[in-house]
Amino acid sequence: MKILAVSDQALERVYTLSSNGHFQDVELILGCGDLPYAYLEYLLTMLNAPLYYVPGNHDPLFANAQAEGCVNLDLKIERRNKFLIGGFGGSIRYRPDGINQHTQNEAFLRAFRMLPRLALNRIQYGRALDILISHSPPFGIHDDSDPAHHGLKALNWLIRIARPRYLFHGHTHFYKQNISNAETTVGITRVMNVYPYKIIEASH
Ligand SMILES: [Zn+2]
Repeated sequence: MKILAVSDQALERVYTLSSNGHFQDVELILGCGDLPYAYLEYLLTMLNAPLYYVPGNHDPLFANAQAEGCVNLDLKIERRNKFLIGGFGGSIRYRPDGINQHTQNEAFLRAFRMLPRLALNRIQYGRALDILISHSPPFGIHDDSDPAHHGLKALNWLIRIARPRYLFHGHTHFYKQNISNAETTVGITRVMNVYPYKIIEASH
């Protein structure tokens, strides 16, 4: 299954590539947060593929807004083309009044809410999860030392217990190191920094 993942920045290049048919074979679009809804809605319309997304720390509260026609996957798991796809939005809390920001403990409480479905999947499909999309990176993987870019330990925990084949995240831009498309393997999980976009062929 060919996947286009996007995060953090609406790119002119992605608009151009989608409008000239470059992404026509994309079967799934994943939004990893901090993107204008108009961008997501544009990709959905141009590529005519399902789009799942999670909120970033610069997105509005999801009770108040939705990207039209797209699926907000925060703390949910859906099955698509035989892939089990889960979502975990938000970032570490670095401002007391920040939206979609969570302390490490709050993030764990959120992750626990996915447990019943993960357990059911294991019974029904023999595995808990195939793909996890998040805004934040896990702790110590593609994260950064400044308070706004610490990774979430709850994601390391989810990787350990749910063992997804793929984790797509955004939020960190590696502006200091000037590294893009960072990828790290943890157990069986390919942890990928999507910023600003990434195309992969996913297999079971
Ligand atoms: Zn962010």
